[in-house]
Amino acid sequence: MLYITGATILTPDTLMSDGAVLVEGGRIVAVGPADRLPCPAGATVYAAGGGWLVPGLIDLQFNGGFGHDFTADPSSIWAVAAHLPRYGVTAFLPTIITSPAATVAQAQAALAAGPPAGFAGAWPLGLHLEGPFLNPAKRGAHNPAHLRLPNRAAAAGWSPATGVRLVTLAPELPGATVVIRALCAAGVVVSAGHSMADLKQAQAGIAAGIRYGTHLFNAMPPLDHRAPGLVGALLTTPQVTVGLIADGIHLDPTVVALAWQAKGPHGITLVTDAMAALGMPPGRYPLGNETVIVDGSSARLADGRLAGSLLPLDQALRNLMAFTACAPAAALATVTRIPAGLLGLAHERGQIAPGAVADFALFNADWQVQATIIAGRWVYERAHAWA
Ligand code: ZN
Repeated sequence: MLYITGATILTPDTLMSDGAVLVEGGRIVAVGPADRLPCPAGATVYAAGGGWLVPGLIDLQFNGGFGHDFTADPSSIWAVAAHLPRYGVTAFLPTIITSPAATVAQAQAALAAGPPAGFAGAWPLGLHLEGPFLNPAKRGAHNPAHLRLPNRAAAAGWSPATGVRLVTLAPELPGATVVIRALCAAGVVVSAGHSMADLKQAQAGIAAGIRYGTHLFNAMPPLDHRAPGLVGALLTTPQVTVGLIADGIHLDPTVVALAWQAKGPHGITLVTDAMAALGMPPGRYPLGNETVIVDGSSARLADGRLAGSLLPLDQALRNLMAFTACAPAAALATVTRIPAGLLGLAHERGQIAPGAVADFALFNADWQVQATIIAGRWVYERAHAWA
């Protein structure tokens, strides 16, 4: 058993100063004020010495990092996952961009094989397949040779049971509606992105089951006051959640604030869209088949188009608070409760409550990660976080 105390427990719904959490078998078994939840005899004690104890962070769009690109090398998923606790990230969706079916199969096999012995890192909850059913006019860094029209047979093997959780597609493409319905029936979350959809096409996709928008504003036409298009549909449909890359480069901070006023705090997930150069020095790095030039703040193709980010998720959280002046609990929901709920994992992840997986991040007053616990195991410590 593990007994965590000495922090203010903050979840999107709870603010408990001097809280305590009891963990057994990798799950939370009790949460309460420390004076009413005493430490059981024999439990290991983590005394936090202040700060915020929050649910572990979840990233729905993450292409790689630390020199590895998941699309170029799906076998690197577990090695990269081991680096993520430093950002407070405890679960994520490894993202495979447009590629041949064999690449997706390799990524599915890498997840199915499970972690290597001694693994202590963020847990991959399943793949985010960004492509191949995308609009060539908004392809970004995706390889045009592998883009396809929506094809039910090509998507037939995709479900959470086979390691696929989320699929981004362009709803205006011929055949999209059939594929959206089939994926939803299989339990996959379907997202609109890399798209030229007008308002009607976007609404038809939502009616067919789309519940997410991939990196809102990026790789889709801008909001036009006479042609609101996909952005207008995503922003105004309450049952749709949107992903935002809040690095201050992909979106102007004012646009993040605008999206927050339309969708926050219930309909936004912060994502990183981070790529191989995350955690690495400037240089040239892979993203799928492309070479991306990284200058220390942004990652771009040779023609200047953005190609993923260098954004750690905890920095995105700090940015959202700075860009919108929102409350910490509201910002926190975008990287905990909301992504967990979107994936249908509301009772498992993204909250500190009995029965949930014992994933935590400990932040100091400046919202810097001090320590990370995954499934009840202490996997990261900044320095002197625990007494
Ligand atoms: Zn993208």
